[in-house]
Amino acid sequence: MKHIIILLLGIITSSSIFAQQSYETKADSIIRLMSLDEKIGQLNQITGFQMATGPITDSGDKRKLIKEGKIGSMLNVCGEYATRSMQELAMQSRLHIPLLFGLDVIHGYRTVFPIPLAMASSFDTEAIWQSCRVSARESVVSGIHWTFSPMLDVARDPRWGRVMEGPGEDTYWACEMGKAMINGYQQPFDDGLQLMACAKHFAAYGAAIGGRDYNTVDISMQTLHNVYLPPFKVAAENGVASFMCSFNEINGVPSSGNAYLYDLLYKQWGYKGLVVSDWASIWEMVVHGYSKDREMAAMQAIQAGVTIDMESNVYSDQLKKLVETGKVSEATLNEAVRKVLVQKYQLGLFDDPYRYCNSQKEADEILTDSHRKTAYEMACKSIILLKNNSLLPVKIPQKVAVIGPLANFQRAMDGNWTVATETDVAVTLLEALKNKFPQTEITFIEGCSISGNDRSGFPAAIKSAKESDLVILALGENWGMSGEARSRGDIHIPGVQEELACEIYKVNKKCITLLMGGRPLIFNQIAEKAPAILYTWFLGTEAGNAMVDVITGKYNPSARVPMSFPKHIGQIPVYYNYKNTGRPAVDKEGNYSSRYIDIDNKPQYPFGYGLSYTTFEYGQPDISIEEKFISVDIPIYNSGLMDGHELIQIYTRKWWGESTRPVKELKAVENVFLKKGEKRTIQLKIPFDRLAYYGQSGWEKADGDYTIMIGRNAEDIIFRKNIKVNF
Ligand code: BGC
Repeated sequence: MKHIIILLLGIITSSSIFAQQSYETKADSIIRLMSLDEKIGQLNQITGFQMATGPITDSGDKRKLIKEGKIGSMLNVCGEYATRSMQELAMQSRLHIPLLFGLDVIHGYRTVFPIPLAMASSFDTEAIWQSCRVSARESVVSGIHWTFSPMLDVARDPRWGRVMEGPGEDTYWACEMGKAMINGYQQPFDDGLQLMACAKHFAAYGAAIGGRDYNTVDISMQTLHNVYLPPFKVAAENGVASFMCSFNEINGVPSSGNAYLYDLLYKQWGYKGLVVSDWASIWEMVVHGYSKDREMAAMQAIQAGVTIDMESNVYSDQLKKLVETGKVSEATLNEAVRKVLVQKYQLGLFDDPYRYCNSQKEADEILTDSHRKTAYEMACKSIILLKNNSLLPVKIPQKVAVIGPLANFQRAMDGNWTVATETDVAVTLLEALKNKFPQTEITFIEGCSISGNDRSGFPAAIKSAKESDLVILALGENWGMSGEARSRGDIHIPGVQEELACEIYKVNKKCITLLMGGRPLIFNQIAEKAPAILYTWFLGTEAGNAMVDVITGKYNPSARVPMSFPKHIGQIPVYYNYKNTGRPAVDKEGNYSSRYIDIDNKPQYPFGYGLSYTTFEYGQPDISIEEKFISVDIPIYNSGLMDGHELIQIYTRKWWGESTRPVKELKAVENVFLKKGEKRTIQLKIPFDRLAYYGQSGWEKADGDYTIMIGRNAEDIIFRKNIKVNF
């Protein structure tokens, strides 16, 4: 059987290499016919700024450029009508080269999924894959060829607004999640339609100093290679169709002209796809103070290996001169053009440029019941149970008070980076409760706004809480407080919401607090006083239904913290895989040797933390070293009263070596579903190469003395075993 699989894989791989070669040959025959302007046009990407299905109205010039073959791809054009009308213009160009249409389909197209950080907290690659399938399907039937997702930026600073778009703080999990997303997006559908994914932002965008978006990155080679780059390498290995540059510089060189990065990508990782700049990021190299002028920026970007210029217009107005004067070789230009044309062949656009424009499919396949079901499941799996004083799950009683500015705020459910706002169908908490429990007497009072200081709504909210059998509070930050250019210096729950919550807890102990946000927020009072807390992020179209079903126990919460929740802004960055110093350890585990005198180091909720309505017990694990991997067999038992998921987490620590290593590193996870009373032994494997790390002299042998740890989360380690690994 194994041999048959290997043989089949061989055939598939060699046939795709064959296809790639034949596309390259075809591309070359077109390139031979192309003028310099037409070649440069293929590398030029402009926005249509058209999110609806109407015609593009913004500029006649753009239409003219498309007809002249001076635009190769567009972003922000979607829907059958808009994409078809743009494609018709491209078909009027001399060589009839079709356009590519890209869009930021970050967490769903019309069916909106939880924000990526919420999906990350599911630790469920199957559900994430499935969600990306749906996003891909809705995109391709709407004329879109390319999503600018996944964002693979590991992030350790929750002040950074873009943490909402990413996988959280852990590199291993970012790799796993990225793989699931890329495969989900890119696998071709039965009718041949397929979506290109984009690994972004290459690289280290998440390391912006102080968490301020677009800020400088000042990073060691070890941190760059060990923490920020691995998800990108995995993306390249998994055949992602494109990469996107980041805006930031890395140690003095902006990413859009950073030859070191592209040398890694193309030469060392063997990547064959294209690289698109970020929005105007080639031009920004001038503002960074790296390129002297636009001409130099264009030259540095194309020579580094940036294929497409998104919205800088520097390729369109500088490359011709650069090629004519020999500063950029025509071979370099041709190589970039070839990559774009190969993608267009791959998508089938040369066979039929309107292949993705199909109003019937668009009408039939958007927001279907089955898509909503997938979004509902993903939403359930993204809710983290942070605290539970035996209150949850609850049976919905006769009188319920729903309180808070996010309880019935439809737009907020979708979170940032959605294209669905004008057809917003998201279900709020209030709506879902009313639908599911029509006999229940539900009062809804906002109590306060999200960010304001007005307390005049408090008395009515307190009164309704007093008079009800159950209170559900829905608080948090607004959807637009996270996302691009939405970094916050103060990540407490804004306004007077926390104060309101504390007043409510005084009058009714049967109070469930739902917290929404695009990042880990700070809410120490709520953490201390609330009887039960569910962290629901922004869950998308099915938000309310998922919240209610978790509250009532129809779904037993299974998500885990993907990024440490700080207690104090001064702790930031707070992450589990820090390194020790030379100072004596502060705690008994030998950790935290550097600290403040006024606040402790521990986060409010550590990485990997999350509760369930059931309980799991671990038996004695069996840890052995095999030829190429470490094998961990863990007996696990669902000892509680409900079926549920447990996330088995294995961390390693390397005690000494050529370079220091973090006190803990996640190296394997397994999301296990066990029926109540069920016992199973789960095997996890850690291949030796997963232990490799970049040290003072490059990639180092990872032989040595290790501790293998099994934890309920990064702080709660229940088993440890010391082993010696000799590869
Ligand atoms: C963002 C990218 C995004 C692009 C296109 C940029 O500002 O950084 O992530 O894909 O815009 O919308």
